[in-house]
Amino acid sequence: MYDLSYSWPYEQMMQDVYFQECPFCGASSILLPFKKEAFEEAKDGVKTHIVMPCCHERLDIVKIDDDYIWSDSPLRKMER
Ligand SMILES: [Zn+2]
Repeated sequence: MYDLSYSWPYEQMMQDVYFQECPFCGASSILLPFKKEAFEEAKDGVKTHIVMPCCHERLDIVKIDDDYIWSDSPLRKMER
């Protein structure tokens, strides 16, 4: 079972994958440094990682679905 706190929404335009907001530093409109193969493989459940270009935080990715990138550690604090 995955918890939504382990996910982060992304946007895809053509070949480019973006975060509206970096989960680590809050920078906006971050182009993610994916290799196309790695992105497609992650959709098939192949683990990968990227290093955020804004703050150089490592994001470990366990899978990608149509809307979210899922990590093995929480990306968002519980909001109440
Ligand atoms: Zn960042």
